[in-house]
Amino acid sequence: MATGRTGISVEEARAIVLEAAQPLAAETVAARDALGRVLAEPVVSPRTLPPADCSAMDGYAVRAADLARVPASLPVVYEVPAGGRGARTLAPGEAARIFTGAPLPPGADSVVRQEDTDARGDAVTIRVTPALGEHVRAAGEDVSAGDTVLEAGTLLGPGHLGMLAAVGRSLVAVHQRPRVAVLSGGDELVQPDGDASGGRIVASNAYSLAAQCHEAGAEPVNLGIARDDPADLERLLRAGLSADLLVSSAGVSVGDHDHVRPVLEKLGCRLLFWGVRMKPGYPLAFGRFEDGAGPLVFGLPGNPVSAMVTFEQFVRPVLLKLAGRRAWFRPRIEAVLDEDLEKKPGRLHFVRVTLRRDADGRFLARSTGNQSSGVLRSMALADGLLVFPAEASRLRRGETVPVQVTDPEVFASHEPTP
Ligand code: AMP
Ligand code: MG
Repeated sequence: MATGRTGISVEEARAIVLEAAQPLAAETVAARDALGRVLAEPVVSPRTLPPADCSAMDGYAVRAADLARVPASLPVVYEVPAGGRGARTLAPGEAARIFTGAPLPPGADSVVRQEDTDARGDAVTIRVTPALGEHVRAAGEDVSAGDTVLEAGTLLGPGHLGMLAAVGRSLVAVHQRPRVAVLSGGDELVQPDGDASGGRIVASNAYSLAAQCHEAGAEPVNLGIARDDPADLERLLRAGLSADLLVSSAGVSVGDHDHVRPVLEKLGCRLLFWGVRMKPGYPLAFGRFEDGAGPLVFGLPGNPVSAMVTFEQFVRPVLLKLAGRRAWFRPRIEAVLDEDLEKKPGRLHFVRVTLRRDADGRFLARSTGNQSSGVLRSMALADGLLVFPAEASRLRRGETVPVQVTDPEVFASHEPTP
């Protein structure tokens, strides 16, 4: 059986999976529903914003030259409400009542805040000399017609959605959301509400992997649990062939009951590699169909921690690339190791660590405890994955170590700023 390359490094595996992934096509969605989506087009504004010089305050539109000496009393000749228009030119020595957002009448060049005036009948006494253009929002200070206000590839957040609305876009082209078929495999597996006695195991990977898909902005589709039987496996795998990505956990090892690899190949999937020199997660397979005629396929290990860590290292970056994102990797910090760590050289270890800040605000990294690939608590407790390089065998307390931050909550603060 052709398995592609075996026993490759994490870096090689990462390069192969990312090379195989290309951003998905665009679809048109309502701009108001586009939070978290990635723009597939640059957005050019047909409008100038603000469309005209307008007032930033409730107060009086004036000519600054009339107020060289204050206090000064000016007649209030008309009123410009917000959204008002068509006022006549303000003559020298006149003031107009104006409200926030209202267009500055022709002839006026400045606005005096209401708080700096005293209104008396049809006149106003102004106590301050305005600077030319004070409290005026200049036409086009935000956007000029023809400006590119959002670049293709922008991950849309609240500010971007506001901008889309302001420039009059109700529809917008975004990359399709990756659809991920998630399959569990093993005779011992039961659904979470099933009977987990007598050697049976809850198929928790279906939950953690689906959640990792959601968290990466993708849409998981649960294919269910395949028995350790080639025919059953083939039936369920076929149901996932229309997805963008097929993620199967377990059954990719070398055991007698590990049918995933041969069945995938029977379906026309070509394996590009099997086995990555990492821990947890050595038994990882990756394949694709010729000419992109099917999904990219990840055969993840079955052990719950291995499945999640391999997803994190390889599936997540691929999902972000498919979604049109430009940065595919977790934020990385340099943390101070808070204990000694040892391992055998040969495989890169992703050590699940907690991160807390010391008195100087530096992050201290500490192992979550038992690092066995079956100990799901190590994932539940982890704030990040410490990268323990393949050829290294010991890291000392006090050393600076790179950590991939998987839980952005570590950056949340209990205190306001300032
Ligand atoms: P395997 O790769 O089939 O040898 O499985 C390795 C370990 O992972 C075994 O203990 C399995 O019971 C466990 N396992 C396999 N699939 C899942 C799953 N979907 N959820 C939780 N554990 C699993
Ligand atoms: Mg199994």
